[in-house]
Amino acid sequence: MKVGVLALQGNIPEHLGALGALLPPGDLLPVRYPSELERVEAIFLPGGESTTIARLLRGAGLWKPLARRLQEGLPTLATCAGLILLARTLAPSPAGRDPPTFGVLDLVVRRNDYGAQRESFEGPVRIEGLKGGAFPGVFIRAPRILEVGPGAEPFAWRDAEIVGARHGTIWGTTFHPELSGDLRLHRMFLDQVRRRAR
Ligand code: GLN
Repeated sequence: MKVGVLALQGNIPEHLGALGALLPPGDLLPVRYPSELERVEAIFLPGGESTTIARLLRGAGLWKPLARRLQEGLPTLATCAGLILLARTLAPSPAGRDPPTFGVLDLVVRRNDYGAQRESFEGPVRIEGLKGGAFPGVFIRAPRILEVGPGAEPFAWRDAEIVGARHGTIWGTTFHPELSGDLRLHRMFLDQVRRRAR
């Protein structure tokens, strides 16, 4: 199974590192061009700066082909800025200048919603179906999920707050599993992609 990491901006080496520990080298593919996107059967959208990633996606001619693959249900794990790009609706953020989104996850999200003082924090996250106890949630200038519509279901919580939601094989988190040193979420995502492929 060929697995891509969108490699335009953000935590690209971190996702490649996490996936490198879980996949044979030939199965892992940084995606910078439409021809690379065509070859992958799953993709990771990294954290970073959503406005920059959106701009670079357009510049690389990747916006439309990625939109189409997402509509078709390309299995996707999107973290932080990645989740922002998947949301149905962005509530205007204090940071201003919100990017366009693919709208494939039925969520209302606000960028940078934890405010300046709390730009970054860590805390335990409960993930549905994940064995081995709480997941170390790393939140960096994180977006907040304000609303989960009927087209998405929550699967991760920090206390009572929803910090991860999915629709079928399209998953998004407001935290950064690629920065936690914990591979369980990457592994769980790949396992369900493989199960569905069989
Ligand atoms: N604040 C960033 C944005 O709006 C997301 C932060 C991140 O991905 N760590 O895109």
